[in-house]
Amino acid sequence: MTLLDGKQIAATIRAELREEIDALRQAGHRVPCLAVVIVGENPASVTYVRNKMRACEEVGIRVERIALPDTVSEEELLAEVHRLNADPAIDGFIVQLPLPAHINESTILSAIDYRKDVDGLTPENVGRTVQGQPSIVSATPRGIRELLARYNIPTAGKHVVVIGRSNIVGKPVAMLLMQRPYLSLPGMSAASLGDATVTICHSKTQDLAAICRTADIIIVAAGSPGLLTADMVRPGATIIDVGINRVPTTNDQRLTTNDQRPATKLVGDVDFENVAPKAAYITPVPGGVGPMTIVSLLQNTLQAYNEHS
Ligand code: NAD
Repeated sequence: MTLLDGKQIAATIRAELREEIDALRQAGHRVPCLAVVIVGENPASVTYVRNKMRACEEVGIRVERIALPDTVSEEELLAEVHRLNADPAIDGFIVQLPLPAHINESTILSAIDYRKDVDGLTPENVGRTVQGQPSIVSATPRGIRELLARYNIPTAGKHVVVIGRSNIVGKPVAMLLMQRPYLSLPGMSAASLGDATVTICHSKTQDLAAICRTADIIIVAAGSPGLLTADMVRPGATIIDVGINRVPTTNDQRLTTNDQRPATKLVGDVDFENVAPKAAYITPVPGGVGPMTIVSLLQNTLQAYNEHS
């Protein structure tokens, strides 16, 4: 079994990005700039935004944080989106999700100029991805494809089972791996990317286990800890665990009664302990898909800068 070390691959990619951005600066060009809009103070969103900003700063991408109160109206947020669309100093921006219940996410996402949509969530970018045209691909699917590429795991002709049909992971990753390849990535020929036979499963799928057992690659993005168990996995399969779940630690995982560690831990959707020995490749949680998602945002920002500045 080989661990797909997203943390290390992401660090390698950040070093590559830093080099590219240093070269821009040295040539007298302005550096790329990302704006991050955060509404309210949802603790998970605050942490995600902080991590994204830190990663930007590490590679030399300028980053602007725009914090709006959770009382902001949909019209006010739309006005901010329009302002960022028109600002030539901003190459790309994201609106951190989720948004408060009184704001329609799809109205906001649809208003973002697709050329600046570095989360790849606008109908324009999603449509382009579906049609196999060059597009900004949403961060987690892009990160998964890059991770497979960097470990030279071919997808052509393979059966990929995706568990989850969300707009941010399940659907776009299925599209990406199914389509005829048009991009080449470092370390892998274009012919080896895409071209998979993809099955998308979801909460209403019948006999998920039987479908998974026919998979060469399983991508789990359900948000359900322990969903993928060893009996669902063919020996030698590749397992990509997208899930991020915070679960309580059991008492025996705390060393003493004075143990100061938090009483929760992060786990994915895979029963890692029992699945890992059967898998050829598997991502850990944390340290697998998560860091690849953040680095994909940086790559998307540089892509937007290169294509439209
Ligand atoms: P979501 O929460 O919007 O939807 C979950 C999907 O899983 C649904 O389509 C549902 O039908 C399916 N599902 C749920 N339970 C199932 C079951 N028992 N069997 C089969 N299908 C089932 O999905 P999301 O926003 O894509 O998030 C999924 C998970 O991935 C969450 O844990 C989220 O935190 C995580 N996530 C991680 C990253 C990352 O960078 N690692 C990025 C995005 C999301």
